[in-house]
Amino acid sequence: MKPKHKAYFPGPRAENEDWLRAEFQSILEHWFRWRQDLFTGDDSAISEEERNARDYLKARSRLSKGLDELNLLLKDELPKYSPRYMGHMVSELALPAILGHMATLLHNPNNTTREVSRVGSYIEDELIIMLGTMVGFDPEKVVGHVTGGGTVANFEAIWRARFRLDHWLALALLLAETRDVKLPLFEAAHMGWEKFSALVTEHGIDEEDLRECSGVAGNPFEFSERINAAYGIAWRGPVILVPQNKHFSWQKGVSIFGFGEEAFRPVTLDRGGKVDIADLKRQIIRSQSEQRPILMVVSVAGTTETAEIDPIHEVRDLLLEFRSERNLDIWHHVDAAYGGFMCSMLRGKGKSVLDPASEAALDAIASAHSVTIDPHKLGYVPYACGAILMKDEEAYTVSTFKAPYLDREHGADKWSATLEGSRPATGAAATWLTGKTLGCDADGLGAVITETIVAVRHFKSVLAGALPSFRPLEPTDTNVLCFAMAEDGEALSETNRKTLALFDIIHDCAEFSVSRTVFSATTHAAMIEHHLSGYDGRLDDDQLVLLRCVFMNPFWGEQRVATSLTDEFLRCLKGWYRDVKEAEEP
Ligand SMILES: *Cc1c(COP(=O)(O)O)cnc(C)c1O
Repeated sequence: MKPKHKAYFPGPRAENEDWLRAEFQSILEHWFRWRQDLFTGDDSAISEEERNARDYLKARSRLSKGLDELNLLLKDELPKYSPRYMGHMVSELALPAILGHMATLLHNPNNTTREVSRVGSYIEDELIIMLGTMVGFDPEKVVGHVTGGGTVANFEAIWRARFRLDHWLALALLLAETRDVKLPLFEAAHMGWEKFSALVTEHGIDEEDLRECSGVAGNPFEFSERINAAYGIAWRGPVILVPQNKHFSWQKGVSIFGFGEEAFRPVTLDRGGKVDIADLKRQIIRSQSEQRPILMVVSVAGTTETAEIDPIHEVRDLLLEFRSERNLDIWHHVDAAYGGFMCSMLRGKGKSVLDPASEAALDAIASAHSVTIDPHKLGYVPYACGAILMKDEEAYTVSTFKAPYLDREHGADKWSATLEGSRPATGAAATWLTGKTLGCDADGLGAVITETIVAVRHFKSVLAGALPSFRPLEPTDTNVLCFAMAEDGEALSETNRKTLALFDIIHDCAEFSVSRTVFSATTHAAMIEHHLSGYDGRLDDDQLVLLRCVFMNPFWGEQRVATSLTDEFLRCLKGWYRDVKEAEEP
């Protein structure tokens, strides 16, 4: 790890304590001066005398005691800053993120409107351009905002895709009911804004009439009856195509937006556990034959379980094919909550350590309509900070019924276009300061992430070399390692049982923190087989249980730290595994 990168993290032993203290001090200094230098003519509200009063002092000591109590409680918080913590997608925080968050917290802007946030909103706008540039969007066109996390960002995408679909369907209904023009329904549902505008002009459609035909602005049940009547079909609503490696938030989203869980169509995974393009194609064609519009196709950059990257470039090419051959404009959302910041590795000189397919996939994020990205994961920013990015204003429009081509307001307040109401500026400022200082490119954050990927590969090879029963899940695309311990010829049910016992032991010991994950045979059949192909165990269980190590901590990039921790983990793992096996013996 380069010394310059070490300046951007507190250090597992608080190595950067001295100057971090000074920076905290400077934040307080600014905050006090901010109060003292403004409205200098105003009377003081707390007098010297009052500050010496008995009940004032009592209140102060009560506060000190309360704070002591909180600090004492926090001593038992999980030490997620340590490289020994490999449990979930959280680790050491970046210093600029902590400082940006703290400084902004003290000023408490509310980015819901510029009336409550003069500087916070401005920082957020700059941040969106910064993140947009990182993922390859046109910085002049990218629009978006900071959210409470990836879950909300995914909801934001569904909300907008629904808005778009509703407009195109409303137009189809209006034309069928009043102009005797029956556009093929599925094609109409994916017509594109250009065709939409052309039809609106051609038929002299009025905004209010269109609104009358909306299933979102009006009554969805009535809309459905009218579609049935106009088209002579049984309308079943749209579907959403999401790979089976998806995050929970997608099922939540579908039900929150009223589509019913039935509308959630999982796309099969290939042997690598990534979205299977052939199945995606089949599902698009199936949706078309069922006359069920596709709300959106989702691909994942950095799955929650294994941090794998779907072949986003192949999804893009497939959707382009549908566009050129069938005139279908299908919304493509990339859930890059975890992997979005990996794009920083591609921005700048030099070759990345990623395999060419992952690189091509990350590069293709730029072609998506919308992207979810979580600074509170690989951005090393405190909770809660996610972000939704849209490639342009057209994709961002939502909420009011007005079509985006009719009215494009720039720099307007975002409150009407965000699911959340009051929104902090802390996350935006934390990410902004990290981007401005450490940098969202190959020389900054990209270099830090690169080192974690190199570290996990080394860790994996050391374990594989020393332990014949070590069975890593292949491939390890990025910085998450999943593995089991299994003997040759051992049945899967046995391996799973041992893995769970191993997890319990590791969970009870305080030396390392890992997590476990379970793949079901129905969703990950091909992958389970692939993973176990190295030996002849019977697949007699309908799931695969794995231990999961998230190598996010930047100090895994420090040779000495990595070497000694890898040795220690190896020694511990041998002992844990021995204990598990001994417990089995009669
Ligand atoms: C973490 C994650 C989410 C959800 O993000 P939160 O910030 O936890 O709400 C969504 N999708 C993926 C792929 C994730 O890894």
